[in-house]
Amino acid sequence: MAMDYTPVRDDFDKYMIPMFSPAPFIPVKGHGSVVIDQTGKDYIDFVGGIAVNSLGHANEELVSNLAAQLNKISHLGNGYTNEPVLKLAKTLCEFTFAEKVFFCNSGAEANEAALKLARKYALENYSAEKNEILAFNSAFHGRTLFTVSAGGQPKYSQDFGPLPGAIKHQDFNDIDAAINAITDKTCAVIVEPIQGEGGVIPANKEFLLALREACDRHAAILIFDEVQTGVGRTGQLYAYMHYGVVPDVLSTAKALGGGFPIGAILTTDKFASALSVGSHGTTYGGNPLAATAANTVLSIVSQIEFLDDVKNKHQLITQGLSEMNARHDIFQDIRGMGLLIGCELKEHFKGKAKALSNICAENGVMVLIAGPNVVRFAPALNITQEEIEMGLMRFEQALEVFINKE
Ligand code: PLP
Repeated sequence: MAMDYTPVRDDFDKYMIPMFSPAPFIPVKGHGSVVIDQTGKDYIDFVGGIAVNSLGHANEELVSNLAAQLNKISHLGNGYTNEPVLKLAKTLCEFTFAEKVFFCNSGAEANEAALKLARKYALENYSAEKNEILAFNSAFHGRTLFTVSAGGQPKYSQDFGPLPGAIKHQDFNDIDAAINAITDKTCAVIVEPIQGEGGVIPANKEFLLALREACDRHAAILIFDEVQTGVGRTGQLYAYMHYGVVPDVLSTAKALGGGFPIGAILTTDKFASALSVGSHGTTYGGNPLAATAANTVLSIVSQIEFLDDVKNKHQLITQGLSEMNARHDIFQDIRGMGLLIGCELKEHFKGKAKALSNICAENGVMVLIAGPNVVRFAPALNITQEEIEMGLMRFEQALEVFINKE
């Protein structure tokens, strides 16, 4: 094939297994929170690569640090450690409750490691009967078989049975149901501090506190899935810091690499002891390039002024959305924390979030959905005020088109 072949959107349907249904246009470059497609049309990016591109597109520091690392050493495998990963591990331990970390490549892998850790810790320290996992309806933890089983959306697991057993689900934020479900047979409880894919639904503080207490009472491991909420997304480095509830294991991915795939679990010495040499692993985990990306992201995102700015941008966006809502009466709720914001559509527009997001793209603004009824914003954490204002203006134009069509 000619080297200068320019792919077209139809190639997706022709050559790719159709697990996704991407937008009709193909983005080719970006800068900050502006994306340009093949035709030269520009979009304000409120998607952020699904809460991943913490520093936006083509961030100079990220580009130059990655290029420098590429010129030094790219990959070694786990027979050797490397400087970037050791620096990253130290930083994550210093910034959080963690004493030990494990690196992998995605959010699902991080949760997979967390759940395996919990099963093995319980087996080694208690008994084979202590194997139950409590998870929550509407949760999303990834697409491996274990993580779709823990996730609370049966549509993602029902066709892949037999599924891993001993996983129970209760309603998110239902304290009594959760407390009753946690027993001496529970080895782990896994929960998102804010359900992201499930509709941008923040946990109540009392709920997380109750889970913490019940886990302590029954010697169960409390896992916070911070794949979507972590790395500054909520205006704190991790959402558990907002809540003042400390987990035993925390999974992180997405924004950690700023677009370079990386995942990790953070835990304490006590629980890390379950995963001994050879008990779990991955070829790429802790790769020097991924660690360099994460070191760059953390060096910027961990700064207090940067995190405060995330909170200010939350205000700017939610205020803009509320004003729009006063004019158009389309959302029944605008919620979330930091730069993870969900707008739930009113009854009349139910099920139309995807249709609205398509109209947004036509109007030059990229937005996410979180289920059929929620429009979600998860932009780069360094999105500028100008980009926000331009994006909101285009979003309102899209709302007008959408409402007129209804
Ligand atoms: N956990 C949460 C809370 C997520 O939002 C996601 C992805 O959306 C995952 C896990 C899975 O992460 P990944 O797609 O990197 O495997």
